[in-house]
Amino acid sequence: MYNPTVPIKLLDSKTVARIAAGEVVERPASVVKELIENALDAGARNLDIEIKGGGTGLIRVSDDGCGIAPADLPLVFTRHATSKITSFDDLTGIMSLGFRGEALGSITSVADVELLTAVANAPSGCLVIRRDGRTSDKPAARTRGTSISVSHLFKAVPARLKFLKTDATETGHIVNVVSNYALARPEVRFTLTVDGRRSLNTPGTGQLRDTAAEILGRETASRMIDVEAAAESLSVSGLAAPPDAGRANRTGLFFFVNQRWVKSPMLSRAVEEAYHGLLTVGRYPVAVINLTLPPADIDINIHPAKTEIKFHQDNRIFNFVRQSVRSALIGESPVPVIGEPV
Ligand code: ADP
Ligand code: MG
Repeated sequence: MYNPTVPIKLLDSKTVARIAAGEVVERPASVVKELIENALDAGARNLDIEIKGGGTGLIRVSDDGCGIAPADLPLVFTRHATSKITSFDDLTGIMSLGFRGEALGSITSVADVELLTAVANAPSGCLVIRRDGRTSDKPAARTRGTSISVSHLFKAVPARLKFLKTDATETGHIVNVVSNYALARPEVRFTLTVDGRRSLNTPGTGQLRDTAAEILGRETASRMIDVEAAAESLSVSGLAAPPDAGRANRTGLFFFVNQRWVKSPMLSRAVEEAYHGLLTVGRYPVAVINLTLPPADIDINIHPAKTEIKFHQDNRIFNFVRQSVRSALIGESPVPVIGEPV
């Protein structure tokens, strides 16, 4: 409770960092998400993800992206340090997944981190170790790319550790994150190894259907209907499962805006309306929807986790997605249309 006899004081920087890290790193899956985003921003075509103990034992993400130049390494774990934007105005044209410069700084304030990186044609790579708030580095061998290993997650934040669910549940969240990014980037090969066992392996052929086969099952993927439409600056592409492949919950909907995984109740509603009258009551659609629109038409700077998004023209997007999915379904689906919405 507020007590006027206790003076107001500035918090020390370590405390500030840990409080702020809570917004970025909610659970192990948030770490995996941030590391994948960084790898994709670095142009990786192969991404290997390894986790142990639901992510609290180990999270390791290795990529074959551009690597980090030795001159940039001193700032890599500093919060608000980024190579992706230089001013707030850059956000209106943003195509990279990251821009806040917060992920690595936040992760290192709640875990131990080892970063092994090398740029092309460098005589050697570099291993940077950050443990208990101290950083050390030394030359180390590696081909071009970056591997980041995160261990002892939340060891200094027992309240957060307590809030975590079972390893199986946390692993489920991680599988969901990897599945989303694999679907967002069919041209990238993703592997996920859970406690030593291969859990996901997408082929990276560039064909969404091939990745969908790994994530949603071969049978569903082979029956999915292409969704493809464009109107002025807006375009949609993706796959929608026939209504009889509906699920008992909402886990089958995947949305990407400019290749960024987003959570959008508005887009979910648009797709659900597109299936209106086609699905058995109590079933939900399965669909992967990619929207492309000018970055200036959206705002992604709503929450540090960057999965929420604001569209400047909500209604237009809603109608466009609903109609595109609807026509794909009706054009191809042999199921009669009941109660077509006006
Ligand atoms: P942001 O992604 O918002 O820039 P991060 O804290 O996630 O902030 O990363 C800080 C910086 O470290 C990035 O801007 C990038 O320059 C570099 N970086 C991080 N991960 C990688 C990676 N896997 N490959 C290349 N560079 C990376
Ligand atoms: Mg990042």
